[in-house]
Amino acid sequence: MKKIFIVFFNLLLIVGFFYIVSPELIKKTVQHSIDEIYNSFVTKNQEVVLDEVYASSDPDIYILDALITNNHSLIQTGGFKYPVKEDFISFLKLKTIAIGKNIAVSDSDVQSMKKISLIGKILETRYFLIIIVTMLALISIVYSGLKKGIVGGAGVALLYSLLWVIGSFYFRGDLTGGANKFLNEIFGDFTQLGVSIGASQFYIVNNSLYFKFLLISPIIFFIFGIAVGIISARKSKIYEIQITDLETENKKNIAQLKRLKNAEDEFKKAGDKIAKLSSRVISLQMLSKVLGASLNLENALDEVMNTVAKLFGSKKCAIFLTDKKKEKLILKKHKGYAISDLNGLKLNINEGEETLFKFAINSNNLVTTDIAKKDFNINELLKKLNVDIVMAAPLVHGDDKLGIFIVGDTENEKNVQEDGRLMLLLATLTALAIKNAQLYEKTVELANKDGMTKMYNNRYFNEYIDSLIAKGNKFSMMMTDIDHFKTFNDTYGHQIGDFVLEQTAQCIINIARDNDLAARYGGEEFCLVMPDTNTKEAMEIAEKLRQIVEVKRYKFKEDELSVKISIGVSTFPDHAKDKDSIIKLADDGLYLAKEGGRNQVRCAAEEIGIKKSEKTVKKPINAEITPSNDVQGEDIFKF
Ligand code: GH3
Ligand code: MG
Ligand code: MG
Repeated sequence: MKKIFIVFFNLLLIVGFFYIVSPELIKKTVQHSIDEIYNSFVTKNQEVVLDEVYASSDPDIYILDALITNNHSLIQTGGFKYPVKEDFISFLKLKTIAIGKNIAVSDSDVQSMKKISLIGKILETRYFLIIIVTMLALISIVYSGLKKGIVGGAGVALLYSLLWVIGSFYFRGDLTGGANKFLNEIFGDFTQLGVSIGASQFYIVNNSLYFKFLLISPIIFFIFGIAVGIISARKSKIYEIQITDLETENKKNIAQLKRLKNAEDEFKKAGDKIAKLSSRVISLQMLSKVLGASLNLENALDEVMNTVAKLFGSKKCAIFLTDKKKEKLILKKHKGYAISDLNGLKLNINEGEETLFKFAINSNNLVTTDIAKKDFNINELLKKLNVDIVMAAPLVHGDDKLGIFIVGDTENEKNVQEDGRLMLLLATLTALAIKNAQLYEKTVELANKDGMTKMYNNRYFNEYIDSLIAKGNKFSMMMTDIDHFKTFNDTYGHQIGDFVLEQTAQCIINIARDNDLAARYGGEEFCLVMPDTNTKEAMEIAEKLRQIVEVKRYKFKEDELSVKISIGVSTFPDHAKDKDSIIKLADDGLYLAKEGGRNQVRCAAEEIGIKKSEKTVKKPINAEITPSNDVQGEDIFKF
C-alpha cells in the first residue's frame, strides 16, 4: 500500500511537472487572456482605437485596421515571427491594446487594461508552481534517502535530475517553431511594446540563464540526494547497533516470556488438576453424606454407580455381592455392560479355577489395567475375564468379604494410578454402606422376627395381612397348633418342647414358597400366609405340611418322639373381607380340626359357613400323647 502510494505520488509529480511547463498550455492561456482584454476594450471603443492606431506611426497600420474592423481575411500570416495566422492575430491584438492603452475612456476600460499585467502573472504563477514541484521532489528524495540510504536518495535524485533536464529542454523547446516560438516572440514584443509584465521579461531576456538554472537544479538534487543518503546511512548504522542490542534484549525477553508461558501452563495444569480433584472430592463427600443417611442397600448402590460416572467419566460399572454363605458372587447392579457378558463370568470365590475376581476378593487387592501390565499373572487373569474392565476393587469390611466392584471404559484410562487410589476410597465407602445396610436389614429383621423360631412375629404378620387386604390381594392363610403340646411339655420338659417347637416351625418355613410368609402367631401356634393362593391349593399345602410334621421323629434317650398338628384354613376375600374375620375363620378351622380328632386340616368357612363357624369356639380338652412308635420319614433327630 505504502509502495503504491509512493509510486503514485512520484508519477503525479512528473505528470504535474510536464503539464505545468507545457508551452502549449502557456500559449493557450496567454492567447485567451489577450482575447479577453481585446474584446472588452477594443470592441467597445472601436472608433477611438482606430483613430489612435492611425495616429501612431506603427508600420502595421493597415493590418491593424483590418483587425479592428474585423476584416480578418485581409490579414496574412506574420512572416517569420508568426508563421501561424492565429498567433499573428494574437500579436496584433496585443499591439492594439498597447496602442489604445492610453485612451481608456471608462472605468471598466481601465480595469480591463490593467488585466494585461495578468498575462505576466500567469508566468509568475508558473514559476511558483515549479518551485512547489521542486520542493515536493526534494521531499521525495529525502524520503527515499532516509528509507533506502545512499542508493535510494541518489537514485530518486537522479530520476528527478533526468526529469529536470528533459523538462528543461522541453520547456525551452525549439525556439524556431511551435508554442515555444510563439511565446518567445510574443513576450519579446511585449517588452518592446512597453507593457510591464514583470517576470515574463526574465523568461525572455534571460532565457539562457533560465535554461542554466534548470540544468543546475538536477545537480543540486543529486548532491542533495547523496547527502541525505549518507546521513540516513550513518543514522541507520547507529540504528543497526541499537537494533542488535534490542535483538539481544528481545531474545532474552522471548526466553523469559517462554519461561513465563511454561509456568503459566504449569499453573493452568495444576489449576485444572485441583479443580478436577476438588470436584472429585465434592462427589465423594456428597456420596459419603448420602450413604451415611441411606440404610437402603438399593439406593446406596445406585448412588455409588452415579458417583462412578462422575469420578471417572466411566460408562461401565457393576457391583457383585457375596451370597450368605460367602461362596460365590451375585450380580447386584450393573450399568453399560451387556448382561450376557456378566452372566458368563465365573463367580465362585472359594472353589474352582482362579479368576480375577477370586484373586481380588481373596487377596483384598485392587486390580487395574496399570497393575496388570506389570504383573504377568494378573494380566493373564484379566485377559481370561473376557469383560472390559479398567479397575476391579474388592468390597471388604474387616474380614467380611462383601463383594467386588468393577469399572470399565473410564475417561482417562492412562491415568489409572490416580483413579485407582480414588477407586479404593470409593470401594471402602461402598463396603461401609453395604455393611450398614446389611446390619440395618438384620436389625429390622430381628425386630420383625421371633427369636426362637426365626419366623415373623405376630405384629409383622398383622401388618402383612393389612397390606395385602389394603391392596385387595387375594390370599389364603393357615393356622397351625401342635396337638396336646401341653402334655408333651409336661412329659419331656420345656427344653425338649422348645426344640420340637422350633423344628415344627422350620417345617413350616421350609414349605413356604417365595412369596409366602410364615409367622409365629402365639405360643405353639403358627400361621402361613399364601398370596395368590385359593382354598383348594392352601388345603393341599396344609395337608402336605401336616404329613411332614406327622412323620418327623425326634430321638430322646430310647424313645422316638413326634408331634402332630391341626390346621385351619381360610381365604381372602372368598370367605371374609376383613382381617379379624379371616384370622378368626382360620382359627375356627383349627378348632374344627381339634374337635374332629386333631391331626387334620379343616376349612370352617367351606364346611359350615361363616356364621355357624363363629359359634364353634369350644376348645376340646384332650391331653394324651398319641404318636410314638410308627417311625416314618427321614427327619430323625437325636438328642
Ligand atoms: P391342644 O392344642 O391339642 O388342644 O392341646 P394343647 O396342650 O396343645 O393345648 P394348648 O394349645 O392350649 O396348649 C398350649 C401349650 O403350649 C401350653 C404351653 O405349655 C405350650 N407352649 C406354648 N408356648 C411354648 C413354648 O414356647 N415352649 C414350650 N416348650 N411350650 C410352649
Ligand atoms: Mg395352642
Ligand atoms: Mg396345642
